[in-house]
Amino acid sequence: MSVLESIKETVGLTAEQPTYECDDCGHQFESDAETDSYWFQCPECGADSATQIEN
Ligand SMILES: [Zn+2]
Repeated sequence: MSVLESIKETVGLTAEQPTYECDDCGHQFESDAETDSYWFQCPECGADSATQIEN
């Protein structure tokens, strides 16, 4: 493991953002916004409905 990876793991940046799959186009993306938030949308098509994928 590299030093950078060790730092990321220590700080907790490796798996902080959940992954979602867009219900409309199927694009998978990460977001730290709430699914019912105004800011939550698919970066591909702009749909605001997506399902969280279990990691
Ligand atoms: Zn989409």
